[in-house]
Amino acid sequence: MDCIFCKIVEGSIPSKKVFENERVLAFQDIQPAAPVHILIIPKKHIPTMNDVADEDNGLIGELFAAARQIAKEQGIAEAGYRLINNVNSDGGQVVYHLHIHLLGGQKLGGLLP
Ligand code: C5P
Repeated sequence: MDCIFCKIVEGSIPSKKVFENERVLAFQDIQPAAPVHILIIPKKHIPTMNDVADEDNGLIGELFAAARQIAKEQGIAEAGYRLINNVNSDGGQVVYHLHIHLLGGQKLGGLLP
């Protein structure tokens, strides 16, 4: 499968990992948009939020649990942060392997286009 995030999961493309368990991986975004910019992904290949099956709802919860833990570890939990999931073309999705952006470390600008 030609998925760059699957290759990161396999280890054939390097990444700066910040969290890993059996089902979830988090790593530094290569083009950080904020002082803290981490991507949290399921190891399982799910292209977009539209493709999440009901049986994967627990996995989605695990992504958010990882985000909470990482935010604490990065020291940004109290100041605040933003979690973003881009979906398909209008949502600005570029990599078609589900991921949540964790952004923080500065006061973030407006969210709406
Ligand atoms: O949500 P979207 O699909 O637009 O975001 C993809 C993100 O994946 C980008 O922020 C990009 O910098 C990041 N990326 C990465 N490592 C790669 C390829 C893309 O961190 N090898």
